[in-house]
Amino acid sequence: MSLPKRYLITSALPYANGLKHVGHLAGAYIPADIYARYLRAQKRDVVFVCGSDEHGTAIPIQATKEGTTPRAIIDKYHEAMKQDFEDLSMSFDIYHRTSEPIHHETAQEFFTYLHERGELETKETEQYYDEEAKTFLADRYIKGTCPNCGSDRAFGDQCENCGRTLSPDELINPVSTLSGKAPIKKKTSHWYLPLGKHEEFLREWILKEHKDDWRPTVVGQCKSWIEGGLQSRAVTRDLDWGIKVPLQDAEGKVLYVWFDAPIGYVSATKQWAIDNNKEWEPYWYDQDTKLVHFIGKDNIVFHCIIFPIMLKLHGNILPTNVPANEFLNLEGDKMSTSRNWKLDMRDYINDFVEKENGGGQAVDMLRYYLTQIAPETKDSEFMWKGFQDAVNSELGNIFGNFVNRTWVLMHKLCGGKVPKLHEDVLVEDDKWIISEIENAKSKVENLLEEYKFREALFEVIDLSRKGNQYMQKKEPWIVAKQLAENPEAQKSIDNTMHLCLQLSANLAILINPFLPNTAKKMLGMMKVVEKMLDWENAGKLKLLSVGYALRAPELLFRKIEDEEIKYQVEKLKSGLVKPETTTAKVEESKSEVANLKPEIIFDDFAKIDLKVGTIVTAEKVEKADKLLKLSVDLGFETRTIVSGIALHFKPEEIVGKQVVVVANLAPRKMRGIESNGMILMAEDKEGKLHFVAPSTVINPGAGVS
Ligand SMILES: [Zn+2]
Repeated sequence: MSLPKRYLITSALPYANGLKHVGHLAGAYIPADIYARYLRAQKRDVVFVCGSDEHGTAIPIQATKEGTTPRAIIDKYHEAMKQDFEDLSMSFDIYHRTSEPIHHETAQEFFTYLHERGELETKETEQYYDEEAKTFLADRYIKGTCPNCGSDRAFGDQCENCGRTLSPDELINPVSTLSGKAPIKKKTSHWYLPLGKHEEFLREWILKEHKDDWRPTVVGQCKSWIEGGLQSRAVTRDLDWGIKVPLQDAEGKVLYVWFDAPIGYVSATKQWAIDNNKEWEPYWYDQDTKLVHFIGKDNIVFHCIIFPIMLKLHGNILPTNVPANEFLNLEGDKMSTSRNWKLDMRDYINDFVEKENGGGQAVDMLRYYLTQIAPETKDSEFMWKGFQDAVNSELGNIFGNFVNRTWVLMHKLCGGKVPKLHEDVLVEDDKWIISEIENAKSKVENLLEEYKFREALFEVIDLSRKGNQYMQKKEPWIVAKQLAENPEAQKSIDNTMHLCLQLSANLAILINPFLPNTAKKMLGMMKVVEKMLDWENAGKLKLLSVGYALRAPELLFRKIEDEEIKYQVEKLKSGLVKPETTTAKVEESKSEVANLKPEIIFDDFAKIDLKVGTIVTAEKVEKADKLLKLSVDLGFETRTIVSGIALHFKPEEIVGKQVVVVANLAPRKMRGIESNGMILMAEDKEGKLHFVAPSTVINPGAGVS
């Protein structure tokens, strides 16, 4: 099979609405980076693009949450994510953003092209409209009960509880999160991409052509989408944040974010070409380009079904592969931003990377562990103890130890220089390690070409393991003791150290795509230039010249101490947004003397998100004397909160009252009703409860600090 002329690698564009965690990193970024670095080392023509996804309702929602503008949100998170990726050695050729004019133009051109050729349908539909807020409601602004799992944390696009993709019409008892009222249906007209028209193409292309070379999980998901019946999908929507629909009669309409976001790969490539004085067109039009999308499994439908249809209609090439990853869990539970059960890239950078003096050791330790547990075929688990074991036992004790021993012994037994290889006295063990060195290249290479990154990394570590075995068999430090009686023994020592050094040079080449900072450090120890890391040098035995003086060894990986792991696990658990505890019982604090909890620092306090809310409805909870079910308008959404105040207040007397709500408390089920927050109450001497509230009526959603 001949090689493609060029490669275009993409990593899913992260939403610029918050920091990203290591689950994202393991899914769409590290594997892509390994692949891109490997191809560059192969001297192939490769462009690796990514960028921030800055449209969609998540952005204005976040802006409301943070009390700022959508523009301020995307600027803040674009910069933060870009920095995080840089700090973790992601080697994008460009990290672009979809708010750039070149992207708006590119996306509009795509729309116009499809529209002019009659590939889009227009439909007049009835959509949910909030009469009070006088606006059509984006899917995300409608909340209701999930038809699949019955949770009331379901939105018009997806259920937060079971993860099922939804349309607003599927929601049971929908309410607007803007006003808390049931929305009405109102007529509006939109453009649709008729996916059903392309079913035959998808069947042929995915289920036949790619049934064997794409991951089974990816093909499986596509199959169920295709067989579930492909509905037309709205390309435009009524919203004021996004890319304007480039037509006369489309006032107030923007492109749907799912339509514009993947086009971000195209506009990023264009910008890269401008910056580097290259041509972008071959990367998107020439059939001899291999396009590979790295994504998480939640993005499969967009990258395997919808975007390929758009590309086909627009005359572009199709992806060659879409190696989607499953999810990464953390310490036995799903990672979740709302519950604060996660490890942000920034947290790792702060706690590990920033604490060392450059050199990228901590970066490589994380890259190693995340590749070793990569959720390639099924969900996997980040455990801090597992991280410690991977770093200490594998990276340190096997790989690091082999390189370190080699350098120490070479200085001790061979005068700090690369010794000669004496072909006349090669023994079986020497021949064995020579063949292992020669074979490692194709093993690693074949796995990388098949996107099997964890197995490829295993092969690299395995080669260093074999190096240790070899050294253990040859025991040059024992042989050295015989030198006085038998000077010929130096030949055996030379051969051992010569082969261990050539093996180390090979390890630097093979580990480079995975752990670039480690490879660089090894180059320094070998006093050779970066060119040695060219992939074609792997498997060679004459990488270091005989007689060449090498530097002293450097520690490649430090040990992760038990205390560090303990600290991280405790930090994770204490940061978890805990379930609501009932406010009714505060018996023990009735004493007159100050009864204070232990002192906290400002940062502890700052974690609590307090918001002013207005009680919209209140009702008794069946079979629970103390509980009231409230809906509380927080300005940006209306929440269900269950509160233990039924003995103190009648439901009808508290509707319209303002309260202070702990808004970022993890949801908790009480009597089968999910409560999303806690209302602050003060208790007097008699044990009577009083609402804590602003002294005058103010806008719901106002922050309290
Ligand atoms: Zn659900």
